[in-house]
Amino acid sequence: MRFGAPKQLLPWQGRPLIAHVADMAWLAGLSPVVVVVGAEAEQVVPALAGREVQVLRNYRWQQGMSTSLALGVAALPSSVDAVIFLPVDQPLVDARFLRSLVTYWQQHHAGIVVPVGREAQRGTPVLFARRFFAELANLSGDIGGRALFASYPDALVTMPVANPDILTDVDTPAAYEALLARRSPSLAWGAIKGVICDMDGVLWRGETPLPGLHEFFALLESRHIGYILATNNASKTPEQYVDKLSRMGVSTTTDHVLNSATAAADYLATQAAPGTPVYAIGGPGVREALLSHGFTLTDGEPAAYVVVGWDRELTWRKLATATLLIRGGAGFIATNPDRTFPMENGLVPGNGAQVAALITATDVTPVMAGKPAPLLYERALARMGTSPEETLVIGDRLDTDILGGLRLGMPTALVLSGITRADELHTSPIHPDAVFDDLAALVRAWAMID
Ligand SMILES: [Mg+2]
Repeated sequence: MRFGAPKQLLPWQGRPLIAHVADMAWLAGLSPVVVVVGAEAEQVVPALAGREVQVLRNYRWQQGMSTSLALGVAALPSSVDAVIFLPVDQPLVDARFLRSLVTYWQQHHAGIVVPVGREAQRGTPVLFARRFFAELANLSGDIGGRALFASYPDALVTMPVANPDILTDVDTPAAYEALLARRSPSLAWGAIKGVICDMDGVLWRGETPLPGLHEFFALLESRHIGYILATNNASKTPEQYVDKLSRMGVSTTTDHVLNSATAAADYLATQAAPGTPVYAIGGPGVREALLSHGFTLTDGEPAAYVVVGWDRELTWRKLATATLLIRGGAGFIATNPDRTFPMENGLVPGNGAQVAALITATDVTPVMAGKPAPLLYERALARMGTSPEETLVIGDRLDTDILGGLRLGMPTALVLSGITRADELHTSPIHPDAVFDDLAALVRAWAMID
């Protein structure tokens, strides 16, 4: 009542608060995301349209918070090992914080994980392991999971929070206004020491360089910012990208280029010795990456690993060979998950479609190298020697470039010169830290910072 409208619907970063919080949970990879609505459900439910969430209506909400907890816990499938209760009014709780809560739980084998902010004050959100689900479902009245803290001191671990501000809740209209005012554009340019940049749709479209290309590389050089040009496209070799940039008047070297085939081969090199036999599906990009790391490519004889990239000469025999090897225990690595590939006349099956056939045939999920999986960006960070916080991700796709960056806790900038249209930002659960029309606009913003 104090806000003049349901608190769940207060705007936050261009979307209702409830949608923002559900998006953070999804972004953190928590699954399933269950949203319990009580008062004002008729108004609140439409705010979640288009999200992969399960919405539950609590018709007993007037009997207290415990009824919402019970409803939510009852909806969790038996495969779920732990639950995090996310209040709707902590908008600064982000995907990275939620991941850290999960990691803390895994490392400490804890039953309950409670974040601790200023003056050792216990905050929310709290994580509960499955063994407490029954008890949580049996609470009554206007109490939450905190009721269990006193009964299980040995199961409870507290997680120190480096920046306790993140736990701030929107309790009053004044607190909301204060949070809004503080949330200025969050890209801290001064802290950036490295850049991971997508290529297609950012640097060029087809054979046409995009605005800002030369200024971008000049800025990186003048400020001694390291960079990696990273792409999910495994079909071309790093040399081919260096040649393409050279035709556009930009001089770089292959150690600045990382495609998903190289990331897959880099990863494999951490798992297997040179000379290990590998069966590869894919074009020259995949084969060269594996050969340059010293692996032996086989043609179907026993192989220790199967590496799958986009293959325009894919045959049933290749799929059969890969299936037999994976079923026989060979490791399974995929370069990238892109389901389709854009051709002049429309979308055709991409590597994700090939990989899906093998997953269906083997019941084995591959290690994925490409965005948004972490491997490609982790390899890029390792090459530059920068930390996630000081490395800016630039890309034109929300679901690969930006999502991959957010999952690793990296600052992200979206450019609208490629795949993503401005109106998609209002419906997508993926929120980049900054949005620019193109690379030229990004360079102008960056150049203004000393
Ligand atoms: Mg792109």
